[in-house]
Amino acid sequence: MNLVLLGPPGAGKGTQAKVLSKELKIRHISTGDILRDAVRNKTALGKETQEYMTKGELVPDRLVIAIVKETLQGNKADSGFILDGFPRTLEQATMLDETLEGIGKKLDVVIFLKTSLETSIARLNGRRVCKGCDTIYHIKNIPPKKEGVCDQCGNSLYQRKDDQVDTIKRRWSVYNKDTTPLIKYYTEKNILKEVSGDLDVDRLNTILMALFQKESLI
Ligand code: AMP
Repeated sequence: MNLVLLGPPGAGKGTQAKVLSKELKIRHISTGDILRDAVRNKTALGKETQEYMTKGELVPDRLVIAIVKETLQGNKADSGFILDGFPRTLEQATMLDETLEGIGKKLDVVIFLKTSLETSIARLNGRRVCKGCDTIYHIKNIPPKKEGVCDQCGNSLYQRKDDQVDTIKRRWSVYNKDTTPLIKYYTEKNILKEVSGDLDVDRLNTILMALFQKESLI
């Protein structure tokens, strides 16, 4: 199955994509994770994109498009994929269609996780990430056993710069302007399904698995 998770910052796209990827044994492609890796490793891509990311702006289309093209064309997603955080603009969406067509694939479904700003801020502002293994925690909902320390690898936890309230609001305004046109785009293609992103991880997962079964996608 080839799937896109669409939704505002804090909709739970990354968390749900990780669960679905394990369950369905398909590849999770997160442009945000790929870009954060590039920044951490100080690659040329990372140097070019760091400032946009810290401010909560979108990095230029040509850069993210190149990343996704390379991943999809390199047979790394042959048994299916979950795109998380991509596409985020109409240009990215049309490029995705072209790339998939070029390799004989298509999108089966786009899940729109409709989420309130309130849920988003509560989730993102409380999120903490492990410096070593990227495991995600939440100071209230998924606290580590020892404050500030990863249960898995013992490294310290940090708050993403773009998870501060001002930047979350900035990310929402970018989302409203650049990404919401995709709802219409995929509705017109008849592949958009709307589900509440305010639900907790397990409940949302149950609903999604039922939906995939109903649509004969799994
Ligand atoms: P995310 O982890 O998906 O919230 O992405 C974090 C940041 O990476 C975003 O705020 C953007 O700066 C950048 N980014 C990730 N995916 C994209 C994309 N498809 N287009 C442009 N910028 C992106």
